[in-house]
Amino acid sequence: MEELHSETQKVEPDPLSTSKIIGLTGGIGSGKSTVAKFIEECGFPVYYSDDRAKTIVNENDDLKIKIKELIGEKAYTENGVYDRKFVAEKVFNNKDLLHSLNEIIHPAVRIDFENWVKKQTQYLVFKETALLFELRLNKECYKSLLVTAEDNIRAKRVMDRDGKTYREVEAVMEKQMPEKDKIKLADYIIYNNTNLEDLKEQTEKIIFEIE
Ligand code: ATP
Repeated sequence: MEELHSETQKVEPDPLSTSKIIGLTGGIGSGKSTVAKFIEECGFPVYYSDDRAKTIVNENDDLKIKIKELIGEKAYTENGVYDRKFVAEKVFNNKDLLHSLNEIIHPAVRIDFENWVKKQTQYLVFKETALLFELRLNKECYKSLLVTAEDNIRAKRVMDRDGKTYREVEAVMEKQMPEKDKIKLADYIIYNNTNLEDLKEQTEKIIFEIE
């Protein structure tokens, strides 16, 4: 990522504040993780749902048992590590299996998030998740913040970042909620079609607008 040199406003935590939860979302390659980093630089905490889910599936024994029951022993390698590739391939074209897997993982992430929120002292906390609207998690948030960009721009960024083909990125996009539907549901929208300076500026403007 290119270096940015603009001044970043930073807020100090208030130990007595009750945090309002802002759902941060966006489709593949929209720039939500980049926005999340800018938000952290401003002094607000971000919970990374997908990253936490990846950790939880390796740490929570109860979850491990349930996942193995659903997907099979091969969901974990011989060393006991969650085999993301194997599981992803199993569920990619099997909606019911994906649904059942999510029914196991999402409640565990929810509990983990609730415990995390309790420890926060800022007046705003952000929950980054690709599936905010799909799982209706926006209903549990004070406000939602969507990062969006045109499909071809998102695809190019993911191809550059992950070395994926256009078709591979497109296959993921096709499974996600269309941007136009997310735009209708979001309280705040960041349009990430230009450069990182602009993205940072929009992020700061919006987060300091939220009351
Ligand atoms: P995913 O859902 O696939 O994890 P994401 O929404 O979290 O993606 P990022 O990882 O933040 O998206 O961004 C995708 C890629 O595009 C990253 O390599 C990031 O550095 C780059 N990127 C994001 N926004 C911009 C921008 N405005 N200008 C240039 N590069 C950008």
